[in-house]
Amino acid sequence: MNEVISKPVLDKGWVRLEEYMGADSAVIRAARICYQSESKSDDADIRLVRRLLKSDPKHNTVFEHSVFRFNVKCPIFVARQWMRHRICSYNEKSLRYCTADREYYVPADELPDRETYIQHMEASFDLYEHLVEQGWKKEVARGILGTAVYTEFIWTVNAWSLMNWMEKRLDKSAQWEHAEYARAILEIFHQVMPVTAQAFEEFILVK
Ligand SMILES: Cc1cc2nc3c(=O)[nH]c(=O)nc-3n(C[C@H](O)[C@H](O)[C@H](O)COP(=O)(O)OP(=O)(O)OC[C@H]3O[C@@H](n4cnc5c(N)ncnc54)[C@H](O)[C@@H]3O)c2cc1C
Repeated sequence: MNEVISKPVLDKGWVRLEEYMGADSAVIRAARICYQSESKSDDADIRLVRRLLKSDPKHNTVFEHSVFRFNVKCPIFVARQWMRHRICSYNEKSLRYCTADREYYVPADELPDRETYIQHMEASFDLYEHLVEQGWKKEVARGILGTAVYTEFIWTVNAWSLMNWMEKRLDKSAQWEHAEYARAILEIFHQVMPVTAQAFEEFILVK
């Protein structure tokens, strides 16, 4: 087991890297089997990884041998976008079986009618809890809650698919709240796969 790396995101969310396998060395191992070559030095390995990410078309499958499992807590509207990314595995907290916690995203900015937004969220939770007390099924009562409510899921993803997610969700067209998660995970990526992360920033993010 690796040490859990945790980063707070937004007002009540977080990302936690629970476990990973392989990191940069898995990419190097996969590439070396292709060429039946042996590592001559750390510098040669770094040059190899950089070349793999710089080349066009890219030798992408070698990055699939490095795998991450994250635990994520984010607003439902972020999770909804996140789960459009299919090349990975998810399991999410079920509001059929679990009662929703009274936790929802509130933007930090002093936006007009921010208090009205909070009152609306509180009122929706009051009604949700009332309906559950009255015997409504949780899976039906949840229908009145908004997408700012926090959810939690685990996400197992390989490094290639992770870079695809980061490239899309760090783009200036991505929603700011989702990009905050991508920025936190990019920091973790640098800690775990420093060589690949550096090359990713240089050759893919800065285009
Ligand atoms: C800024 C932004 C705005 C967006 N707006 C919308 C929107 O308004 N509406 C909306 O529906 N979506 C929207 N999306 C989601 C977007 O269309 C993608 O579904 C999402 O980004 C996942 O990307 P992906 O398919 O590359 O990732 P993954 O699903 O992880 O797939 C990774 C790669 O695998 C390959 N692949 C996976 N499945 C298939 C397949 N079935 N056929 C062929 N190749 C496949 C592709 O090469 C793909 O790039 C938006 C995304 C972004 C970043």
